[in-house]
Amino acid sequence: MEDALSTHCWTCLAPFMPKRKDARYCSVACRVRAYRLAMSPAARAKARVLDAKRHRVAYAARFAKPMDKEASE
Ligand SMILES: [Zn+2]
Repeated sequence: MEDALSTHCWTCLAPFMPKRKDARYCSVACRVRAYRLAMSPAARAKARVLDAKRHRVAYAARFAKPMDKEASE
């Protein structure tokens, strides 16, 4: 079996040049997506909740006044 230099992303099927011989995805986003798709629906729902939580924290950190930050913890 011969490996071609260029390959196709396992997630979006776009051709790309892998930086590593064992690279399967064209980008981090595709790698994460593949990881998510491989999870069970329950695990995926949990990850989604965690994601939403992270986004809320990031949003709060961006707009909160310095004093509110300590109070909310
Ligand atoms: Zn891709």
